[in-house]
Amino acid sequence: MSEHTVEVPVPEPITYPFDYVPQDGDGVRVAPGVLWLRTPLPLTGLNHINHWALEDGEGWTLVDTGMQTPETVDHWQRVFGGPLQRRAVARVICTHMHPDHIGMAGWLTRQYDCRLWTTRLEYVTCRMLVGDTGREAPADGVRFYHAAGWTEEALGHYKARFGGFGKVVYALPDSYRRVHDGEELRIGGRRWLAVIGRGHSPEHLCLYCPELKLLISGDQVLPRISSNVSVFPTEPDADPLSEWLESLVAIKGRVPDDVLVLPSHNEPFRGLHARLDELVAGHERRLARVYEALAAPKRAVDVFAALFRRHVGVDSLGLATGESLAHLNCLIARGMAVRELDAEGVAWYRSA
Ligand SMILES: [Zn+2]
Repeated sequence: MSEHTVEVPVPEPITYPFDYVPQDGDGVRVAPGVLWLRTPLPLTGLNHINHWALEDGEGWTLVDTGMQTPETVDHWQRVFGGPLQRRAVARVICTHMHPDHIGMAGWLTRQYDCRLWTTRLEYVTCRMLVGDTGREAPADGVRFYHAAGWTEEALGHYKARFGGFGKVVYALPDSYRRVHDGEELRIGGRRWLAVIGRGHSPEHLCLYCPELKLLISGDQVLPRISSNVSVFPTEPDADPLSEWLESLVAIKGRVPDDVLVLPSHNEPFRGLHARLDELVAGHERRLARVYEALAAPKRAVDVFAALFRRHVGVDSLGLATGESLAHLNCLIARGMAVRELDAEGVAWYRSA
């Protein structure tokens, strides 16, 4: 026997306690007063988003809302007639500003004359992105993707699709209620703690209920897929991957392992700490592969093979480039890579 016994907590493995997934507008009760709802998404590869309805006095607090499509409106109408029993909505909380989460917030808050609760950067960033709809693709954006190594054809695609964000977001409410990190919200007589993460979106809100041992994790912690962490043309030198990794470590310190995690995609699961460790390790492995690839100079589009198993087509080029730049900017921040612009304005990266 050694002199000191150090107990290292072993995280629970990842398990999925529910064998039924909500469909056709029904709901699944995952805890007292907490319903799991699911809305279809018109995206290739990701065909649904989960929402949560929390009993709140006479009505409901809804968490996340779906993308603005006619199918989503139909779906909400079925949900209100079904599991929500035509009770009113007391408030709408959005974890973050991506259209599958905030897309119907304006519609729901107007229907029920209630308020949107979210963090300041999610609200303000969403207002900014919605404001791009109807504008021409800016020169800064074209320069950004040209520097990443895009062809003229791919740049044409970017210009044609620019401003698409606002088309899948119903007109946002003109004011909102700001939620602060660490704030305690009272929902249905229970305490829910606001836990903010960064990297996938600027100020992503998770909600932790110690009494029910639940974590509504949004896209900050997903069990089977990894969340997109991207650099965008509005902030070419951003380092969202460092923020993402710091957030995952911070959540492990703030939220215990014994919660049931309610993620926006895939199914509710147990094993939060194991999943957080896995996500961090996965990015560190990818950073190491990108670093190795930089033995010879590469453009952002040349490191896809080190990051993705699947072929990157024109539809996923924007997100893939954003992810690639997130890894490259993180290596630069760590002093492990340098970036040089050639005479054509294309950026080349090599290990430092
Ligand atoms: Zn998202």
